[in-house]
Amino acid sequence: MKKQTLAIDTPYQHPDAYGALSMPVYHCAAYEFDNAEEMADAFCGRSDMPDYSRVTNPTVTYFERKVAALAEAAEAVAFSSGMAAISNTLFCLASQGRTILTSRHLFGNTFALIGGTMLRFGVRPKLCDLTDIEAVENAIDDTTCCIFMEIITNPQMEIADIRALADVAHRHNIPLVADTTTIPFTQFSAKALGVDIEVVSSTKYISGGATSIGGVVIDYGTHPNFGKRMRQEMLMNLGAYMSPHVAYMQTVGLETLDARYRVQADNALTVAKAIKDIPGIQRVRYPGLADDPYHDIARRQFGETSGAMLTIDIASKEACYKFIDNLRLIRRATNLFDNRSLAIHPASTIFGNFNERQREKMDILDTTIRLSIGLEAAEDIIEDIKGGLKY
Ligand SMILES: *Cc1c(COP(=O)(O)O)cnc(C)c1O
Repeated sequence: MKKQTLAIDTPYQHPDAYGALSMPVYHCAAYEFDNAEEMADAFCGRSDMPDYSRVTNPTVTYFERKVAALAEAAEAVAFSSGMAAISNTLFCLASQGRTILTSRHLFGNTFALIGGTMLRFGVRPKLCDLTDIEAVENAIDDTTCCIFMEIITNPQMEIADIRALADVAHRHNIPLVADTTTIPFTQFSAKALGVDIEVVSSTKYISGGATSIGGVVIDYGTHPNFGKRMRQEMLMNLGAYMSPHVAYMQTVGLETLDARYRVQADNALTVAKAIKDIPGIQRVRYPGLADDPYHDIARRQFGETSGAMLTIDIASKEACYKFIDNLRLIRRATNLFDNRSLAIHPASTIFGNFNERQREKMDILDTTIRLSIGLEAAEDIIEDIKGGLKY
């Protein structure tokens, strides 16, 4: 079946007693067994019966099955946030003395996790330009436990060659972990490009319009024992599983994911084209634009669409603040891929706790505004951007 059909019609694990058309929310902590042996089998992973909702829950399992079906993956594991998905993955792969090979161009909290939190446990970051494959090859040594990348970096809008990074990683027997939050798995296949483990903040496109916080780890089964360890060790010991209520909302979100994404990506391209030559805007970064430096690689990897995130650069930090204050339709908010369009000044917010020198190293500019384009009419979004520039 095609993805659009699977998003609606992935079968339940067991027929519902009342024929419910959407997966019921199993709001329970524990499950009862008929006998001791069934109980032992469930606890030791020898059966698919749930035992305790920190580790398994029918509503969350259904969400995971739908994600795995859409991504054509061996397995998906759902977490309480995108950061929980990322931190559980990295704690699963790393150990004291190992290094994580990644870029300076990372989501702020991921950067702080790898550069700060994990460092306290003896796991070191190795920072490298992931668009320079030779530099990546040279940076790998026998301490490297994985390459971690974001498929479109935020807010630099940089796109590395996923296939080339996967080939380098596999030559050294390490997995390529990709944060694919910016382009949904209904749109492109990370697996076909060689990604071993995909992490997604399902808060974004999947939640169905910013209804809830969540994350997923998609395991393509290419890295030995990862999926088993994720469930048997990480979920049990770190305890950041998705809640059943969130899984319900995000399962409904998956049903409309492809339809919403197409409209948002179309809108983003229309907006980017309409504003790129407006006086007052120094630069628009959007890989869907034919003259964007990453246009060709975006086409090759992601197909016809390029997501719904774009950035604009204007004169100064003061101009950015004025622009944001002038907006009437686009909301002043963080987050990405809400149904409504959003604007934020990354340097003073998401990266506000880094100092100027750190921001410079990460290429976070004072002149950049990040826009997430929603489902409103493109004309209205464009009018609001034009209005914002009147300062
Ligand atoms: C939002 C985001 C995250 C973190 O996800 P949460 O659900 O907010 O924890 C990680 N990576 C990227 C690229 C994101 O946009």
